[in-house]
Amino acid sequence: GLYVRVRNMVKHFNTAKGLFRAVDGVDVDIEPSTIVALLGPSGSGKTTLLRLIAGLEQPTGGSIYFDDTDATNLSVQDRQIGFVFQSYALFNHKTVAENIKFGLEVRKLKGDHDKRVQDLLALVQLQGLGDRYPRQLSGGQRQRIALARALASNPRLLLLDEPFGALDAVVRKQLRAGLKEIVRSVGVTTIIVTHDQEEAFDLADKVVVFNRGLVEQQGSPTEIIKRPRTPFIMKFVGETNVVPATSLLAKRMRFATSKSNVMFRPHDIRLFKSPPADDNGVLTIGANVANKANLGWIIKYTLRFDDDVECELQLTRDQDEREYSLVVGSRVFVHVNPRSMMGFNQS
Ligand code: ADP
Ligand code: MG
Repeated sequence: GLYVRVRNMVKHFNTAKGLFRAVDGVDVDIEPSTIVALLGPSGSGKTTLLRLIAGLEQPTGGSIYFDDTDATNLSVQDRQIGFVFQSYALFNHKTVAENIKFGLEVRKLKGDHDKRVQDLLALVQLQGLGDRYPRQLSGGQRQRIALARALASNPRLLLLDEPFGALDAVVRKQLRAGLKEIVRSVGVTTIIVTHDQEEAFDLADKVVVFNRGLVEQQGSPTEIIKRPRTPFIMKFVGETNVVPATSLLAKRMRFATSKSNVMFRPHDIRLFKSPPADDNGVLTIGANVANKANLGWIIKYTLRFDDDVECELQLTRDQDEREYSLVVGSRVFVHVNPRSMMGFNQS
């Protein structure tokens, strides 16, 4: 697989309101035969970076390397990239087989095209559908054909921009599993743009989180989830409690920080109906149940400490019925392991 390195990539657009910094100095390494997900809110610059890597946009500054060659000014054709976009972009007047063959013809590849089409149909598990037209396929099937077409010419790099964005949740999950398997078996270096965390964390070896044209953090899914480096990442990847560093809770748990706020996940709370007998190991602090929200399989409690600071706790319905079944106004005792707490200056 291809090794892609993006160095200090900048793309500014001139707009009616002035210069817009869509990508504002981005460094990313995409190791050979890995899947990298560009994750972030809408408008954060993910598609722009993908288009820069594809050669569909000219950078304002910075460089792109494919292995050891500077690819910054290569033409789109010479980059040998396969694309899949959210909108299917299949030719409606061509059959499935003709659509896939198009992927071979644009690169003027030699060899037995019909055999290759059959192999590609098998790869995406749509054998026997070669004679159909796109309108005779489901959305999920069309995206698989788009993938087969993108892979037809043995690209050095596969770029996917929200490829499952238009599909329903069940189909998305099926396609995700299929994509992972196909990409692994072909061994092609892959970059996928998504705003869906589950998709990013499930598919990718490395997740690159974008925010306003900048990379907030990049790393393995585990690193991003367990060691968020900024408040943005902390909040982006899960439910987050934010309490002042001076709050009774933070002090009682002996969480020492020079930062103004302390953040932790709702599931890091341990709850007791009465204070544990041996308080040495498990420090607790009293709180009142201020609210109980029934979210189906999840029960969400709002706990209010005596300094009026609040935090939230989520339990499964079963766990709640078995162990707590608290009513609003109950007194409870709260423990949060200080090792699961993180200090941040912003909220
Ligand atoms: P994402 O894919 O993360 O949703 P994009 O990369 O598509 O975000 O866009 C990032 C920002 O750049 C958006 O605010 C978008 O409006 C702006 N943008 C993208 N392309 C252009 C363009 N050709 N001209 C002006 N602004 C653009
Ligand atoms: Mg986009």
